Amino acid sequence: MKQIALLGATGSIGVQTLDVIRLHPDEFNLHSMAFGRNVEKALPLIKEFNPKTVVVQDEATKDALSRLIDQPIYTGTEGLIEISVDDAVDVVVNAVMGSIGLPATLKAIEAKKTIAIANKETLVTAGHLVMSEAKRHGVELLPVDSEHSAIYQSLNGENKQDIHKLIITASGGSFRDQTREELVGVTVEDALNHPNWSMGAKITIDSASMMNKGLEVIEAHWLFDVPYDQIHVILHRESVIHSMVEFVDRSVMAQLGTPDMKVPIQYALTYPNRLDLEMTKQLDLEEIATLHFEKMDMVRFPCLRMAYEAGREGGSMTTVLNAANEEAVQLFLEGKISFLDIERKIERALEAHKRIHNPDLSTILSIDKETRNKVRFHLN
Ligand code: NDP
Ligand code: MG
Repeated sequence: MKQIALLGATGSIGVQTLDVIRLHPDEFNLHSMAFGRNVEKALPLIKEFNPKTVVVQDEATKDALSRLIDQPIYTGTEGLIEISVDDAVDVVVNAVMGSIGLPATLKAIEAKKTIAIANKETLVTAGHLVMSEAKRHGVELLPVDSEHSAIYQSLNGENKQDIHKLIITASGGSFRDQTREELVGVTVEDALNHPNWSMGAKITIDSASMMNKGLEVIEAHWLFDVPYDQIHVILHRESVIHSMVEFVDRSVMAQLGTPDMKVPIQYALTYPNRLDLEMTKQLDLEEIATLHFEKMDMVRFPCLRMAYEAGREGGSMTTVLNAANEEAVQLFLEGKISFLDIERKIERALEAHKRIHNPDLSTILSIDKETRNKVRFHLN
């Protein structure tokens, strides 16, 4: 029985992880869980799964929850670390939103836990630290992001030096058919309306701006140790092929399926084995009939261009890219800036930053904080 610590249990990935755990009670047990402030959503999950420990974002949430449950409750980053390094835990599923997940990921690696990683911001903000620590401690990072799971599955039994390129597919997000002119004045509600996937608010906005694909390019660079010139993005509206690997002999391996995150979540939990997942719809290729592929337009999607540029420049640039994006998306969701202001703010933040070559954790955390502050209060 695998003991699981689930960070971000009330989120889109968290709830689907619990669906998978519920489906296989003989295989998985929820040892502990963390969430932010959503007590209403968390309470029935705590009652159902009865984890040993619960972590919440702050003291106020702890006070509210402590009247309702018997479990010990921890708070903040320290709490996330506490459950991630617990001796009884085998797998840490990191499904929190944002770079807040970084310190717990690093500590879980040090404690030699298997890590199922959905939290892509951790790899974007500090991929060099995460991967060097993983290598040092012999820890496996199992991707939950569907594209990276597809690549991981396509690489089964292959040699790294035989990779010619990674081909990441993009559905195009909510605004794939709008011109840039038509993006002026789009609302939060428009942006939250994703054609293929139902996800948390921040990643849905990232999909609309194409920053999600940019973050995924950087995530792939770190997870698979492949240079940016060998990572391609292609528009594929149907979200049937989740990503591909082209090898030196021109052979291309792909992983296909219906768009359902439970598939890559479960694969990360069962790897290298597989289990039934009968709740997921089978792929009906006759019904789908046709698949489409289009070239990505870097002028139409400047967030993707900026992500490649920041990734190639390296060092602290991707920390700035990620923090500026997180803060700008939050401002958009709060109704304080327009959709096109998101990319403008990120561009300004990148321009204003002088790259630091090999930042350590404390430098990363301070650049992250400083960038958020600049984006919220100073940069137009
Ligand atoms: P959601 O916004 O739906 O969920 C985020 C989760 O993190 C919630 O449980 C939230 O708690 C919790 N959380 C937020 N802040 C804190 C904090 N300070 N301390 C503890 N917990 C916190 O996000 P998603 O599930 O959509 O995404 C999670 C991650 O997975 C992101 O990195 C995203 O990019 C990635 N991902 C998501 C996919 C998807 O299909 N949703 C696909 C691929 C990757 P609360 O509910 O209380 O706020
Ligand atoms: Mg993805």
